[in-house]
Amino acid sequence: MEFSSKLLEKAVNEMSQLPGIGKRTALRLVLHLLKQPQERTGFLTEALMNMRHQIRFCESCHNISDEKICEICAQPSRNHQTICVVEDVRDVMAIENTGQFKGIYHVLGGKISPIEGVGPSQLTITSLVEKVKSGKVSEIIFALSSTIEGDTTNFYIYKQIADSSILVSTIARGIAVGDELEYADEVTLGRSILHRIPFENNYKNS
Ligand SMILES: [Zn+2]
Repeated sequence: MEFSSKLLEKAVNEMSQLPGIGKRTALRLVLHLLKQPQERTGFLTEALMNMRHQIRFCESCHNISDEKICEICAQPSRNHQTICVVEDVRDVMAIENTGQFKGIYHVLGGKISPIEGVGPSQLTITSLVEKVKSGKVSEIIFALSSTIEGDTTNFYIYKQIADSSILVSTIARGIAVGDELEYADEVTLGRSILHRIPFENNYKNS
């Protein structure tokens, strides 16, 4: 791609670093910004910089949060003994949208994936196991995508908490095998949580 301006080229190159944005799309977005009043670009860069500098992770569930403890963990009306284990903030948002879950979450920050070089120590598994061992938890619900990586992660965690007396369940497979959780429709996902099944049954049958 030949550019008539180095400044334009640099902006397009930076924009095209984003996932799913090729050079052509990057150019279209940058040209769009150029047509807008200057302050629009200011609002965009300010929002991005503020997010990058000020955002935190909840000290309890590791979800993205503005405060030390996120809004969900801070709600006394929620059942703090039931923890739904998810991969990231998108899954929390998807499950919250169903309105069917009144417990709290534990955000792992990814799935175990040897191919992508993600090991258990890069996820928040230790903190989850500690929560279980503290005796304040009565149920863990695995709500990871039903992919090999999701199953591996579930099983890895299950092995570490299997000797505790808590209930370990997994969301019902209304979620198709291989589906990412965030793409499931709200009704399917809501039902999957309500009709969750004991984790042990799940892996014995598979
Ligand atoms: Zn939280």
